[in-house]
Amino acid sequence: MQDLLLHVCCAPCSTHPLEVLSTEFNVVAFFFNPNIYPPAEYRLREKEAMDYFSAMKIQNIIPPYDRGDWLNHVRMHAENPEGSNRCKLCFEFRLRKTAEIASGMNIGFFSTTLTIGPNKPSHVIFPIGETLAIEHGLIFVARDFKKHDGFKKSCDLSKAAGMYRQNYCGCEYSFRDRRIRNADY
Ligand code: SF4
Repeated sequence: MQDLLLHVCCAPCSTHPLEVLSTEFNVVAFFFNPNIYPPAEYRLREKEAMDYFSAMKIQNIIPPYDRGDWLNHVRMHAENPEGSNRCKLCFEFRLRKTAEIASGMNIGFFSTTLTIGPNKPSHVIFPIGETLAIEHGLIFVARDFKKHDGFKKSCDLSKAAGMYRQNYCGCEYSFRDRRIRNADY
């Protein structure tokens, strides 16, 4: 089987994509999410990912947490809501690093679990992956994991595994908007 570097946004969302892709590729999981805020939340999601990869014996890479470059990349869009251009930049930031790491490791294929999210449209994510694939001489495996009840399957699998599932996307802006919605501040 060929190697594939899979950008993993969080462990619960990775369950179904890992099931699917592991039948076709030797998957290396890449948990790269400097968008996540606050740090305690990052540690929680990171630990879920580490535990899941370990339980499933999935080779993985988890770089150190450093939000600086990500913040610089999106901060002009701080006031925009989820689904705006900020998210497009956020996807591009995480996928660019994935393509760079794949290229550096001579892994010819890359993909992302992001498309499983109901608010993460594949028509936005696919062109980003395809552009980065051309730039790096790779193949972007464009899968819309939310199709065929993919999101529900990931919810069922992660629930069965007793995983923590967050209730906001990840960044400080989505954290802020969740708090406003819930009026719990
Ligand atoms: S809402 Fe989610 S996708 Fe959008 S910028 Fe924040 S973390 Fe990234």
